[in-house]
Amino acid sequence: MDSNYSKNIEKAYHKIKNRSNKGLVAKYIPELANVDPSKLGVHITMIDGSNCGVGNNLEKFSIQSIAKVLSLTMAYNIVGEKIWNRIDVEPSGTKFDSLLLLETYKGIPRNPFVNSGAIVICDILITHLEDAKEDFLAFVRELSDLPDLSYSDTIADSEKQTGFRNVALCNFIKSFGNIENDPAEVLDFYFDMCSLEMTCQQLSQTFAFLANNGRKITDGTKIISKMKAKRINALMLTCGFYDESGEFAFRVGLPGKSGVGGGIVALYPDNYTIAVWSPKLNLHGNSHKGMELLEDVTTHSELSIF
Ligand code: GLU
Repeated sequence: MDSNYSKNIEKAYHKIKNRSNKGLVAKYIPELANVDPSKLGVHITMIDGSNCGVGNNLEKFSIQSIAKVLSLTMAYNIVGEKIWNRIDVEPSGTKFDSLLLLETYKGIPRNPFVNSGAIVICDILITHLEDAKEDFLAFVRELSDLPDLSYSDTIADSEKQTGFRNVALCNFIKSFGNIENDPAEVLDFYFDMCSLEMTCQQLSQTFAFLANNGRKITDGTKIISKMKAKRINALMLTCGFYDESGEFAFRVGLPGKSGVGGGIVALYPDNYTIAVWSPKLNLHGNSHKGMELLEDVTTHSELSIF
């Protein structure tokens, strides 16, 4: 690990740690509100495997929507380019759980990272896999080298009690014929998928394949083709932060994905993956301090894709 990276990260961490935070912890999933709002962690993994982090970087948190990149990776591998007949690749410019554009686009979600798109991805996985829940978990375990990784029943159950908008989204899409399976089964899988927990260290290592042309950095296993990795990265850049994707690209300059648990993972192809966690969210549902920290890191290291 180049010592400049670790110094840069430490500096950014201490600077942002001491700032006030106007964000709010997500409460619409009751279990997420039980987390200590002052947590802050960051971890960077270079594609040569060296890595370092600071703060609460080794504590697990709910990765929520960040898991949507992994379910897209699995589904894209299985069905190939046909996947884009069911989900578009355009930024939505709307909130993550919006129903608005589904009416206009007749049940075709704008992209795989808004909730509607991720729900359609779950439907695709259920259609093509024997046991989508188990098979997806096995895929992520292998990808992350975390054989003990499992869904969090506490978080999934909490969201199952209150996920009314997701229930509405799934049924609405079904009415246009873009959900093939039973909506209850699709939603059950969707809530489980969002309940995965990882640390910043684990997250930065898990996503390293996308910075490494689709191959795991630990043993070179091909997870996805180079071309598909390029496309997933393009989608993270344009759609990874809901209606704040433009702002993230403008301020941070990296492809990335956020989750309402306060995590963000971002990557610089052929260089590194970085994960941050700070539970308080801004008005767009993205980690307030997480974004500030990443902006500081890429501004001072001058290592962004732009
Ligand atoms: N499980 C969350 C939901 O469906 C994911 C949202 C997010 O992380 O952006 O509302």
